[in-house]
Amino acid sequence: MLPKPPAREPSLNFLYIEPYRIIGSSVAGEATTIMVPELDVCFDLGSCPRSMLPCKWACITHGHMDHVGGLAYWCSQRNFLGMGRGNIICPAAIAPAIQKMMEGYIDLERQKTPFKIHPLEPEGMIQIKPNVFVRAIPLEHTVPTCGYTVIERRSKLKPEYVGLPQDKLTELKDRGTEITRFLEIPLVAYIFDTAPGAALLREDVRKAQIVLTECTFFEPEDKERAKIGMHLHVSDLVEWLRVCECKAMVIGHVSRRTNLAIAKSNLVKSLGREKADRVFFLQDGKVNRERYERQLMDAGEHPLQQKGVAGTGGRSGGFRGRPPREGGGDRVSSRSVPPRA
Ligand SMILES: [Zn+2]
Ligand SMILES: [Zn+2]
Repeated sequence: MLPKPPAREPSLNFLYIEPYRIIGSSVAGEATTIMVPELDVCFDLGSCPRSMLPCKWACITHGHMDHVGGLAYWCSQRNFLGMGRGNIICPAAIAPAIQKMMEGYIDLERQKTPFKIHPLEPEGMIQIKPNVFVRAIPLEHTVPTCGYTVIERRSKLKPEYVGLPQDKLTELKDRGTEITRFLEIPLVAYIFDTAPGAALLREDVRKAQIVLTECTFFEPEDKERAKIGMHLHVSDLVEWLRVCECKAMVIGHVSRRTNLAIAKSNLVKSLGREKADRVFFLQDGKVNRERYERQLMDAGEHPLQQKGVAGTGGRSGGFRGRPPREGGGDRVSSRSVPPRA
C-alpha cells in the first residue's frame, strides 16, 4: 500500500470588509500573521506566507514565537525578491532582542539582510503612508506587548472659521492664525495578545472601523486559563462588543479545538444577532468564502454572472478586493452559491 501524502496545509484566510482586505492566518500557539494590503501593513509574522512579502511595514506585537517566527524570513525574502528593506515596527522594550535575532542571522548566513527597526514606546506614532499613522498601544500580556491602531489624520477647518470666504481664510492664514485642526480617524485596531484591560476601552480602539483581535478561550471552564496566559476569553469579548463601535470585529488566535459554529452561536445568544453579526472568525474559511461570493453577486462580479449563467450579466471593470491565490484554497467556488441573506 502506498503511503498517504501529507495533509494539505490550510491556505490563507480572507475577508473583504470594505474598503479593506483582511488576509492572513491565526491559530493560538501556532502562528499569527494578518495583513491589510490597502494600508501596506502586516501585523505579526508568526509565519511568513508569500502574500505578506509586498507589505512595506510589519507591526510586531511581542516576542512569542507564534508572532515573530517568520520575521527574519520576511526580511530575507523581501530582499531576495528585490522588494526593499523590511520595516519592523515593534515595542521599544523588545527592539534590542529583535536586533540581536537579526544579527544572529547575519552570522549564520554570512550575508547582511537589510532591515530597519522602528521601536515605539507606548503611545508612540509613526507615519506609514501620507496622512496615515500607526500608534502603539500598551497591552497586558506575559511579556512586553503592544497592540496597534492605524489612524488617518485629516486636517479640518476649525468650527469658528467654517463658512468664511476663501480670501478671508487666506488673510487669517497669512497673519499666522491657525485655522485648521487635526481630526483622527481610527481605521484599524490590532489587539493581540492581551488580558482584558484599559486598552479595549480607548477611543482609538472603540471607534476603529475594523478591530482585529484575539480570543483564545471559549469554554466557561477556561476562564482561569485565559487569566493565567493573559489572553481574552469570550466573556471579555461579549462585554467589549457592547461598547465597541466597529463595523467589523475579526477574531483570530482561536485554538484548533474550538468549534467555530458553536462559538458563533454562543456569541449570538449572549449579544443578540445584530451585535454578533459584526463578528467574523478569520479561520472560518467556508463562511468567509460564502460571504465573499455574496459580495461578488451583489456587485454583479461573480464568475457565473460574468459568464451570463446567473443574473443578467455583470458589471465590467476591476474588483480590487480579490482574495489571495496562495494554495488555491481561497478561490471562489462556482458550485456553492448560497442564497442571499
Ligand atoms: Zn499568541
Ligand atoms: Zn503571546
